[in-house]
Amino acid sequence: MAAEIQPKPQTRTPVLLNKIEASQDVVNTAVIIPKEDGVISVSEDRTIRIWLKRDSGQYWPSIYHTMPDSCSCMSFNPETRRLSMGMENGTISEFILSEDYNKMTPAQTYQAHQGRVTVVLFVLEMEWVLSTGQDKNFTWHCSESGTQLGLYRTTAWVSGLQFDVETRHAFVGDYSGQVTILKLELDSCSLVTTFKGHTGNVTALCWDPVQRVLFSGSADHSIIMWDIGGGKGTAIELQGHNEKVQGLCYAPHTRQLISCSSDGGIVIWNMDVTRQETPEWLDSDSCQKCEQPFFWNFKQMWDSKKIGLRQHHCRKCGQAVCGKCSAKRSTIPLMGFEFEVRVCDSCHESITDEDRAPTATFHDSKHSIVYMHYEPTMGWLLTSGADKVVKVRQTQCLLRQRLDRQPNSDLFSTNWSFDQSQIFSHQIFFRVEWNTLI
Ligand SMILES: [Zn+2]
Ligand SMILES: [Zn+2]
Repeated sequence: MAAEIQPKPQTRTPVLLNKIEASQDVVNTAVIIPKEDGVISVSEDRTIRIWLKRDSGQYWPSIYHTMPDSCSCMSFNPETRRLSMGMENGTISEFILSEDYNKMTPAQTYQAHQGRVTVVLFVLEMEWVLSTGQDKNFTWHCSESGTQLGLYRTTAWVSGLQFDVETRHAFVGDYSGQVTILKLELDSCSLVTTFKGHTGNVTALCWDPVQRVLFSGSADHSIIMWDIGGGKGTAIELQGHNEKVQGLCYAPHTRQLISCSSDGGIVIWNMDVTRQETPEWLDSDSCQKCEQPFFWNFKQMWDSKKIGLRQHHCRKCGQAVCGKCSAKRSTIPLMGFEFEVRVCDSCHESITDEDRAPTATFHDSKHSIVYMHYEPTMGWLLTSGADKVVKVRQTQCLLRQRLDRQPNSDLFSTNWSFDQSQIFSHQIFFRVEWNTLI
């Protein structure tokens, strides 16, 4: 990846509205309170804090509550003002916040896990609290009764969890790089499918219930868009980060994906373009352009008395080519390559300037991001950093105007289900060869 050239940073950048710096340790999750000038944060320092903007323009805590252990994750439902918070000791505690955000009343406690709670997700429609922990258990509890409804053993630690209310499918992304789809019933679940496209941990998942698309982000720096609703097993790669992807948020009205990485990079992707899948890499004993043998092809090398060449792959056509026939580099934004990658000479000629028009903008949050939250009604983007600082930015200038689109029967179809076709085979292995990317 040494030869990577990053696209030029955009002149329009998200405007920093505020910084919150009071935490003693990393803020593991923080969310913007919609329609309020406020933020809820839960931290490794054991505190839950509600920050409201005062006349001075600064955020001051209206609630400061210390928990018995580190607060590892949180889910907030603005409609009911229900705060579900997971801890290091495996417990999930729930509170109801008062309308003015000055008071917090305990609502429920669940002894959900044996170790740190890694993700918690409250689903109002089902009255379920879904959670995953370091004990590798995925559980769901009834938020009314507090009882555990079901449990599923995952193969590795889970770091991403999403739920589709309509079809009751849970998407579980784990440290082995795999995404598991489970169909949840009231007290049981069934494995629908698993798919694997990442070579590193899945670090974040984001589900768009309208287009039925799942985004997965990984420690391998990549994002994959899984077109679940399309039913064809289409998987689109997005390569725009130089470090581990830490968070993914989708802005449905403008069809933009916001991703962030641990090096502070924020990428805003235009998903309102027709993107292409990357090709399978072809295997060949000789360059598919000049026909010179690759170095392991001893027979042909011996016969033709030629020295073998190193094999590379063109990212556009997938052909196996030698270095000489693929000396040029290009971005291929519609294939998700916002950075320059190796292409063969003929593909290089075929790529026009129009094809090279970036489909993403790149920004620097100036801290190592551990968590990100996007609030679509205000266009605010929150990032929490390893530097214990929470930053709130206005991104309205970057997000395109709301698109006036007619509801399309394909996109808004409600009879979608996994069971109607077996197009998604039980395991899809999507080939990404990172170690040989250049
Ligand atoms: Zn060649
Ligand atoms: Zn090519």
